Amino acid sequence: MSAFSSDKLQEAIRWRHHLHAHPELGFQEIETARFVAERLSEWGYAVRTGYGRTGLVGSLTKGSSRKALGIRADMDALPILEETGAPYASKSAGVMHACGHDGHVTVALAAARELAGETFDGTLHFIFQPAEENEGGARAMVEDGLFRDFPMDAVLGMHNWPALPVGTLVARDDEMMAAFGTFEVQVVGRGAHGAMPHEGADPVLAASQIVSALNTIASRNISPLQASVVSVTQIHGGDAWNVIPERVVIRGTTRWFNAAVGDILQARLEQVARSVAEGFGCRAETDYQRRYPATINNAAVAAMVRSQAAAMELQVIDAAPSMAAEDFAFMLDEKPGCYFWLGAARATGDNPGLHSPRFDFNDQIIPGAVDMWRSTAMNFLR
Ligand SMILES: [Zn+2]
Ligand SMILES: [Zn+2]
Repeated sequence: MSAFSSDKLQEAIRWRHHLHAHPELGFQEIETARFVAERLSEWGYAVRTGYGRTGLVGSLTKGSSRKALGIRADMDALPILEETGAPYASKSAGVMHACGHDGHVTVALAAARELAGETFDGTLHFIFQPAEENEGGARAMVEDGLFRDFPMDAVLGMHNWPALPVGTLVARDDEMMAAFGTFEVQVVGRGAHGAMPHEGADPVLAASQIVSALNTIASRNISPLQASVVSVTQIHGGDAWNVIPERVVIRGTTRWFNAAVGDILQARLEQVARSVAEGFGCRAETDYQRRYPATINNAAVAAMVRSQAAAMELQVIDAAPSMAAEDFAFMLDEKPGCYFWLGAARATGDNPGLHSPRFDFNDQIIPGAVDMWRSTAMNFLR
């Protein structure tokens, strides 16, 4: 049963609303980190800051076991203008907790307080990471020595999931979230008068053909049994009705799980862009970046999470992995662990998706999420 009293729940909700009102972008989570560090220190955690610039770790050891568990929460907000109309809406125009990381911080903090009062045998590391969105804060923490300075046997991460009902949990044995890359193709032609196209080399036409051709990579070069995505999301070029411009820029994103598929996407993207551009007398310069690896769970740790969830009467469900990406992948690349989704859909049916300007973390899941961290940690460090 939940040991989480209604006073503590009300306080946790106040933290969540405070954090929501004061969002900070990736690697700028200074006040958020201070908020977290003050409380952890008060409850007896040893706090070390400066991992991944604004990231911090709160550690607590009890008993004599050398066993250690890491629990990670992400702290960053997004560059979005909030439209929730909530009384605790963002006070920073254009910055918003639209992914629920305010809730993740709250839940991890509340669990840290619960666990400070429990008996366990081993070490708990609460990892508060910066810059989950796009900037790879998890990688920055790992590069700054997270796992060297805080040895741990397993690491756990959680995301609220508004597409699934409250009371459900998904912890797959393997793939949870896709790997992602970004690309920018500069299509360079030769500008000309719009009335005399034969005197130039038209990068607008070449770019149009490149966009079409890039869409054949997933369908013609990747096995139909492997998941992959190539999405062109931007195309920019030209300033006048009657001028063929010198260059056009195409940008977009790729997704995959299997590393070999990632290799094919990158190689084909550069090759297709270059060859098609050449066919039109233009030149394509591609800047391709592999950003996050796939988020892949350890089967044994995932099984432990699922059995803990079932014991708490959460409904453990199976779901397909998401083609969105998550930088907890960098931690799972180093340590066995599990990243799970906790269902967060409101019964009202009004559930704006993650990154929507109307998204607001569902406070209803706080008690269950705190209990999930508390009981999983207690079980791991028995
Ligand atoms: Zn997000
Ligand atoms: Zn998120």
